[in-house]
Amino acid sequence: MDLQSRVALVTGAGSGIGRASAITLAAQGAKVGLLGHTRKDLEDTATEITSQGGQALVLEADVSDEAQMRSAAKRLIDAFDRLDIVVANAGINGVWAPIDTLQPDEWDQTIAVNLRGTYLTLHTTVPIMKAHGGGSIIIVSSINGNRTFSSPGATAYSATKAAQVAMTKQLALELGRHKIRINAVCPGKIDTEIDDNTSIRNPGRTAVPVEWPEGDIPLTEGKPGASMDVADVILFLASHRARHVTGVPIYVDGGQGLLR
Ligand code: NAD
Repeated sequence: MDLQSRVALVTGAGSGIGRASAITLAAQGAKVGLLGHTRKDLEDTATEITSQGGQALVLEADVSDEAQMRSAAKRLIDAFDRLDIVVANAGINGVWAPIDTLQPDEWDQTIAVNLRGTYLTLHTTVPIMKAHGGGSIIIVSSINGNRTFSSPGATAYSATKAAQVAMTKQLALELGRHKIRINAVCPGKIDTEIDDNTSIRNPGRTAVPVEWPEGDIPLTEGKPGASMDVADVILFLASHRARHVTGVPIYVDGGQGLLR
């Protein structure tokens, strides 16, 4: 998994799966651009990486803002001169609510961060990878919208996560000729900060009252996964070991999505 001389960009690198991925890629030798909208968190991730002898660059930007994303891509290339790995991870759960009370601005916010943000991340970085002869993109999607539809009121969120997998498959064909691979990871429940970006209203009006089989996450007896569980799969997809893998969603859920 040697990533010496490689350069990676990780969005949402200030916490959770993004932070773990950035640290994991840096530990294998990659220089890492840490993109996010909370500078203090990004600086903490950078300190962790540099304290282990790695190289990191803090890129403060909102993934849904075109000008900020263009500027971040330019700063990254000015500093590191190339780009090989892009982890499009930044995302929010947003508002989960019955469709008749989910407000247009709440819908727009989830689409803006999760879907427009993924588009802008790729739109601003693919030209750099094309110019350098290839690369690997990993989109962090979810079991929601792909393997499960049971989170009450998560319509906007699920729509963005399904769309990310559709983008992965569509772009695998488009970008193959440029030697750019693109894959998705679809985590189940992972212990991160995402609950801070979640607002659930009236779940009783949207939840379907089913009796689930005994248990929750088969591999861990119900315990959520850790960010590192996802980061290790992202490392594999970023590496030469996944050289013939593209257009694939990989579930990282301990079997959760098969059960419920
Ligand atoms: P998290 O909240 O710890 O991390 C998300 C990061 O994205 C944060 O650092 C946040 O600051 C950043 N971010 C949010 N909005 C942004 C914006 N507009 N611009 C720039 N950065 C922004 O949560 P996480 O669980 O690590 O989430 C990472 C990804 O994993 C998300 O796409 C999420 O949908 C996906 N995911 C998480 C879980 C889970 O259970 N935690 C499950 C499935 C999928």
